[in-house]
Formats: sequence, C-alpha cells, structure tokens
Amino acid sequence: MRRIDVLSLYTNDMSFYGDMGNVLIVSKRLSFYGFEPVVHFYNPGDSFPDHVDMVLGGGGQDSGQKNIFDDLQKRGRQLRDLASQGVPMLMICGMYQLFGKYFLTNSGKKIPGISVFDLYTEASPERIIGNLVEESELFGRLVGFENHSGQTYFSSPLPPLGRVVSGFGNNMKAGTDGAMANNAIGTYLHGPVLSKNPVLADFLIRKAELGRYGTEELAPSPALRRLDGLAAKANEAASRRPR
Ligand code: GLN
Repeated sequence: MRRIDVLSLYTNDMSFYGDMGNVLIVSKRLSFYGFEPVVHFYNPGDSFPDHVDMVLGGGGQDSGQKNIFDDLQKRGRQLRDLASQGVPMLMICGMYQLFGKYFLTNSGKKIPGISVFDLYTEASPERIIGNLVEESELFGRLVGFENHSGQTYFSSPLPPLGRVVSGFGNNMKAGTDGAMANNAIGTYLHGPVLSKNPVLADFLIRKAELGRYGTEELAPSPALRRLDGLAAKANEAASRRPR
C-alpha cells in the first residue's frame, strides 16, 4: 500500500474548535483513496520524522502559541524547506499566524513566527468571532468558524485563500481570508474546516501524492462521494447561519 506521512504539529497546545478533526479527516480520506496514512504527532522536544508528505497545524490561545514558538523556531528551517519543495500544508488561525513573521499579542508580547508566509499579525482589543464564509478561486465556497484577536496583514502581495462573503478573515478591512504560498495554505477557518470543505482535504492529498509518487490522480471512492454530499449540506447550512 502506498504510504503517506502526515506531520501533525503541536496538537497538545494548538488544536482549537475541532482543528484536530482535520488530522482525522485527512487520515480517513487517505484510507478511502487506498493509501496507508501514517500520522506523526509532533510536540515540543519530539524528534522530527525522517519523511513528511503533508503538514497540519491548528489554532490555539495566545498562551499555547507562547508554549510552542521556541520549538517552532528550531524547526523553522526544516518547515520552510518542506514548504518550498511543495509539501502541502494547512495551518489554521494560531499556527497560520506563526507561519507568518510574528504575532504581537494584546499584552505586547511579540511571538516570532517562521515566515513561510510573508505576513504579520497584530492583536486588536476586539475579538472577531463567528461564522466565516468566503469564495475561493481554487476551491469555491468555503465556510468555517473564526475566533481571533489577531489582525493579519500581508507584507507583500500574496494570493489569499478566499474573498470574504460574510465574517472578517485576515483583518477587519481587507475582505480576504488566509494566504497561499506554494502548496501551503493558511486560514482563519476552524470547524474543523475539512469537515465542511472536503475539496481542501483532497487538494492536500493530491499534492502529497504528487510529491511522493509523482502523480495526483485520486482513485474514485463512491462511499466518500456519498459522505461528501452530507458535507456539502453542512457547508450550505453553515453558510446561511447568522454570526
Ligand atoms: N491567539 C490567537 C488570536 O487570538 C489565535 C486564536 C486561534 O487560534 N483561534 O488571534
């Protein structure tokens, strides 16, 4: 069986609003497509796996971000190298912020990031909380839940993940959510995002397959298509929900 190695970053500190579900969803979908998923849970001080086909990271409180940033700095080079090789990544909220240059918290602490994305984040006194709906050029309508004090600004022009239809995303003015760099995706969508937007999961899986095996053809899975019908209904229902 063709194996795919998934690195799950800092789930002890960084897994908010169901973000850990992204790891479960990717594993399940990999199995449906006939791969053998191998998940490496990585927390500060752990050894880094020898081979990585995909990287997932979730959101967290400012305190969680403070717990992991030191270790993240030590792994920054490896993670930047993987991103530039085209390894697919999905970073939600707190980890999205730390895959940028820094996050300046409300208490004035500047938490350094690893600059996979050329952007920075500064906390505002007002938290942004509610459903977030966006239109993505690559992925269509995406929906999830946002809860963050951080306002994210691009330092250079980057493709956003989507244009905001309702909610805020990156910050209160830009009208965009998330960013893409190569096959790395950052976003404020929690939920877990992959449950209502399986198109994103399939993108990550295809790119992981491409990196490891040189093709990106997913075997058809009728069972999965049936489940995706339910995901589409959940996407629809959440998109219509007031904040
Ligand atoms: N602590 C960060 C913020 O408030 C990230 C929050 C999150 O990951 N939900 O902006």
